[in-house]
Amino acid sequence: NISVRDMTIAFGARRVLDTLSLEVKAGEFLVLLGPSGCGKSTLLHTIAGLMDVTEGEIWIGDKNVTWEEPSDRGLAMVFQSYALYPRMSVRQNLSFGLKVAGLPKDEINRRVDAAAELLKLTELMERLPAALSGGQRQRVAIGRALVRQVGVFLFDEPLSNLDAQLRTDLRVELKRLHARLKSTMVYVTHDQVEAMTLADRIAIMKDGIIQQIGTPYEVYRQPVNRFVATFIGAAK
Ligand code: ATP
Ligand code: MG
Repeated sequence: NISVRDMTIAFGARRVLDTLSLEVKAGEFLVLLGPSGCGKSTLLHTIAGLMDVTEGEIWIGDKNVTWEEPSDRGLAMVFQSYALYPRMSVRQNLSFGLKVAGLPKDEINRRVDAAAELLKLTELMERLPAALSGGQRQRVAIGRALVRQVGVFLFDEPLSNLDAQLRTDLRVELKRLHARLKSTMVYVTHDQVEAMTLADRIAIMKDGIIQQIGTPYEVYRQPVNRFVATFIGAAK
């Protein structure tokens, strides 16, 4: 599980996160939902260790990782802009990080083949990124995170560049992946439909503060305030 405790991130006098606390249960699919600028990416980057903490702590499992390097936190992140290495094939893109980490060759191949199978990339392994569709590229980006075989995955609007059909398809695949891997996933979006379909629980953010956290059913049926009701689309 991930525990964010009284987290404040300030830029000068401006608090982008304001004494925010969040418990993500082990194995759950948690969606962070909120309007542009509310602090979703900041919160995700904070968990990943890519942000300077002003105040507060991050715990992963029973370890305080607040001051740990990103690479020591046992998590993998998929960004919205998924830059693949343009001169490397899909297979090389998937293997590269593991090669750098010094894993033995047959272990790399085993992991890469398994991820490719899961993400339906097997037929595309020798192609260059330029010869892939947006959805296929995004699957490679997700694959690069998957092969690391960590317990925690962080996604920052990974489907926002794709058309509606691809988004729907990849949503289904992500759900299946989560069921298969049973890893903890924190998924940022500003898309209500995406949140409702993917989440075990949704945390709704506004101005650096979590307004409500609950199952899709709970936040839809019992919004705690007008903002949540309007944002989730349940306002009468
Ligand atoms: P979006 O949906 O548009 O991606 P978001 O919820 O991810 O929005 P963040 O990127 O977390 O929002 O930004 C939250 C606020 O923090 C924004 O108002 C942004 O301008 C501000 N912010 C982010 N990074 C910095 C920085 N380095 N210096 C100053 N302000 C920043
Ligand atoms: Mg963002």
